[in-house]
Amino acid sequence: MERITDLLSRMTLEEKIGQMAMVNADSHDINEDLYSALRDGRIGSTINQVDAEINNKLQRIAVEDSRLGIPLLVGRDVIHGFRTIMPIPLGQAATWNPDLLCQGARVAAVESASAGINWTFAPVVDVSRDPRWGRIAETLGEDPYLTSVLGAAVVRGYQGDDLSLDDSIAACAKHFAGYGATEAGRDYNTANIPEIELRNVYLPSFKAMVDAGVATLMASFSDLNGIPPTGNQFLMRQILRDEWGFEGPVVSDWESIEELVMHGLCSDNRSAAQAAAMAGINIEMASSAYADHLPELVKSGEIDIEVIDEMVASILELKLKLGLFEQPYTDPHKFPDIGNEKNIETARRAALQSLVLLENRDNALPLSQDAIRSLAIVGPLADQSYEQMGTWVFDGDDSISETPLNAIRAMVGDSCSISYVPAMETSRSQSTDQFEAAYAAAKQADATVVFLGEESILSGEAHSLANIELPGNQAELVRLLHSAGKPVIAVVLAGRPLALGNIIDLVDALVFAWHPGSMGGPAIADILFGVESPSGKLPITFPKMVGQVPIYYAHKNTGRPASPDLFVHIDDIEPRTPQLQTGMSSHHLDAGYEPMYHFGYGLSYTRFEYSQVEVLESEPRLGQSITVRANVKNTGKVEAEEVVQLYLRDLVGSVTRPVRELKGFQRIRLKPGETRQLTFLLKPGAFEFFGQDMKKRSEAGKFNVWVGGDSNAMTGTEFELT
Ligand code: BGC
Repeated sequence: MERITDLLSRMTLEEKIGQMAMVNADSHDINEDLYSALRDGRIGSTINQVDAEINNKLQRIAVEDSRLGIPLLVGRDVIHGFRTIMPIPLGQAATWNPDLLCQGARVAAVESASAGINWTFAPVVDVSRDPRWGRIAETLGEDPYLTSVLGAAVVRGYQGDDLSLDDSIAACAKHFAGYGATEAGRDYNTANIPEIELRNVYLPSFKAMVDAGVATLMASFSDLNGIPPTGNQFLMRQILRDEWGFEGPVVSDWESIEELVMHGLCSDNRSAAQAAAMAGINIEMASSAYADHLPELVKSGEIDIEVIDEMVASILELKLKLGLFEQPYTDPHKFPDIGNEKNIETARRAALQSLVLLENRDNALPLSQDAIRSLAIVGPLADQSYEQMGTWVFDGDDSISETPLNAIRAMVGDSCSISYVPAMETSRSQSTDQFEAAYAAAKQADATVVFLGEESILSGEAHSLANIELPGNQAELVRLLHSAGKPVIAVVLAGRPLALGNIIDLVDALVFAWHPGSMGGPAIADILFGVESPSGKLPITFPKMVGQVPIYYAHKNTGRPASPDLFVHIDDIEPRTPQLQTGMSSHHLDAGYEPMYHFGYGLSYTRFEYSQVEVLESEPRLGQSITVRANVKNTGKVEAEEVVQLYLRDLVGSVTRPVRELKGFQRIRLKPGETRQLTFLLKPGAFEFFGQDMKKRSEAGKFNVWVGGDSNAMTGTEFELT
């Protein structure tokens, strides 16, 4: 602290404001203007430079040629890998394996730190329940608890045990807050979230990142209840600083300070700078409202210098923690090779555990290497080393990627002949020119594996969709392959949940592979041929139709919950049925009330049986931990991993409570016939929620608890907290 006070006392106002400026430093911006701004101390951080030599050069100018020698924060979006790419975050979330997410982030940290990067803008811990939103790919799914546990693991991975180590980089929890609730799933759109919902659903994952020691946060550039977070004092000051005690820097999103003008919150960049500074946004990304207007705002007394000092101190503190004053430079030679075997192995395990088996009729999978002599491989995404990496892979090296086609070829060798017909140029193609060839290949083969889905450009930032069915003519392709009369196995690569209703009855099995990253191919081959049993579980609900969105497992019961006897499907309504006789319950006449696949769901090549769920405490008490025990048995024929999930329902509350909430999970591996007794400790926090008064509470009363393999788990018990 002394060092910071001393530095601050020697800084001019312009130098202080310089620390608050982050400039784009990609290769077009490396010029004399940038060098002279660095020399003058007008820049505190850069974004988008990934060349070690250039980053060292920029640091050298800041450290050796500026008056105070303050090193730079060097930022880059290293969202799910730098050169070696892990599955998209939503896919990694499907592993329900915090250790694996931590290792994936470690790989990203080490590879990017070697290039001189010391700060990344991840994890995205926006909870989202809208698959139309392209950025759902970057999230960890729909659930506050799952997002919190996995996000904290990612923070640990990037930041390591000690931020000052050469291979640790600062993480940034984003986009604070509410971005995932963007209206109509359209990116950058307005989010309207009642405070109680904000506190119970959208904020807990950010609080969890603060508790996990995340170094920084990023403000969302959406509108939130009329005040975009970049200028939102309630969010940034009251909640983040006062209630949670977060002291690290908050960075704006790209130009989000100046966008306060476009939002209509501020009349010009000057008042935007004032609004953002008053909200406590420490660093302005990419635009220059702070540099242009803060000096005058301070001189005129509209902003107190103490406000600036406090914000700058937090930036300097981060630089100290990162050890940048001691070692601002990177030495790539001291780092392990990019894309080394260990990194590749991590990418492969992450992809393997992220694959979710959604359908498997008559055990169509796994394919038997002994029985299958010929295989048709079809579809636009079978051999796309770039597309399989997914969104946000600015630095991803697709020469590292192993495609499914290559991996399957390598696995089956000469024992099986493969005919490959891409059938479509891209996932969006309408042309049917190659369909006949695809049909012929399917007809001749023992089985067909069709690689469907979305290319990477169809998800991610600004890539929202109003229709989430398979794009282009893919459904038609599947119809044709089905008509060839041989087993059809679909593997879907995509950045979001898709509405699969128009193909699901035409395939024998379906593996949902997300965008699985560099090692998607070998992971998919392992699952298809049963080298490993699938163990991924959905971190988000899959709707039958887009009109069901938002549809999520932790919904409220409503006063008229739907059930089979309170619902008549549109096709079954008789003419002149009286208005009140189709079931006065909460459903859609066409889609019903169930999703296509529920949260937590995913099949395996074995079966797991759950029994004896019990609460160990004879008189469970409010404010104390509760122990839940359950037995899980592998009743099938193969060794496999299972994600055991615990759900709680608070039956009556002073505000209505969700029908289920995830409160614990464990990934286990069981041999055939093996039974494991598992224990879950529910700490007092598991029972807490925000009430009408916006205060956290837990309430006495009855609870249901279930333990099982998905959010429909039926094995459970009731208990009462007194
Ligand atoms: C995105 C952020 C990202 C930033 C820097 C913005 O457009 O919303 O998530 O970190 O750009 O690339």
